Amino acid sequence: MPLVPLPELLAHASSHKYAVGYFESWDVYSLQATIAAAEASNSPVIIGIGGLSSNHEWLQAGGIELYGNICANLAAKSSVPITTLFNESDSLAEAKLGLGVGFNSAMMHTQGWDQAKLLADTAALVTAAHAVDIAVEGEIGALAEIKDGVFDASGASYTTPEAAELFVRETGVDCLAVAVGNVHFVTGSHIPTVQVDLIKQIGEAVNVPLVLHGGSGTPDDQTRVAVAAGITKINVGTKLKFVFGNALVAEIGKGELDPNLAYGSRFEGDINTRAGMALTREIQRLMDVFGSTGMAHK
Ligand SMILES: [Zn+2]
Repeated sequence: MPLVPLPELLAHASSHKYAVGYFESWDVYSLQATIAAAEASNSPVIIGIGGLSSNHEWLQAGGIELYGNICANLAAKSSVPITTLFNESDSLAEAKLGLGVGFNSAMMHTQGWDQAKLLADTAALVTAAHAVDIAVEGEIGALAEIKDGVFDASGASYTTPEAAELFVRETGVDCLAVAVGNVHFVTGSHIPTVQVDLIKQIGEAVNVPLVLHGGSGTPDDQTRVAVAAGITKINVGTKLKFVFGNALVAEIGKGELDPNLAYGSRFEGDINTRAGMALTREIQRLMDVFGSTGMAHK
């Protein structure tokens, strides 16, 4: 079906009390595994690629355009509602490369920017994106992250309702990513504590849907509570790469492989296809946690 605008997708989630997952992908296998999960679970989904852990040289040398077009092509052939996102680009210039190449939503990774640049560049992206019917996700506050296996909150700051209200009013973003105790890049044992009351307070202060990044590390019970408190979009990246990578390693570890079957055949003996099946299972599980299962055509 045609791409669904992000505000429309999130308004549906809000009125039906669930969250849509943005499941970050990185190649055709992971992208198709994501869409397969959405179709099997009859769930809306947000697909795309992110700048935060990608080579910006590759992205800017045509990677953004290549990936956006693949996303749009696959979305058009799918039976479920899909929004495409160029997530966490590292600058206004890079975000603009994502306009008009298959993505219908955009976001910049702005953590650590000073307030003047944050407001000016986000507003400029909104103006450029809205002119071509593309939605913008903004962010205010900064997430702690796991760096080299260690919890690092040195650059982190919670989103305040006052700052959120000002930011949304000044920039005109379509949805807002918040820092409420959620953490980026979690693979190990670190358990974040999501501040549910803060989510509610921010939700009362702004008139746009709220987004939770760091979906990889947030435990299922906290995720459910966050959705109940008003989160309508959840970003997951690291965990998906972890699941896919572990499945790949397990397949390779089984011993000698027929190269023509194992690499790129798309038969069941293709190790990337098998890793994609593991990825599909994990995304379907997350869709259950987010409450989006069965919501595609409600
Ligand atoms: Zn993120």
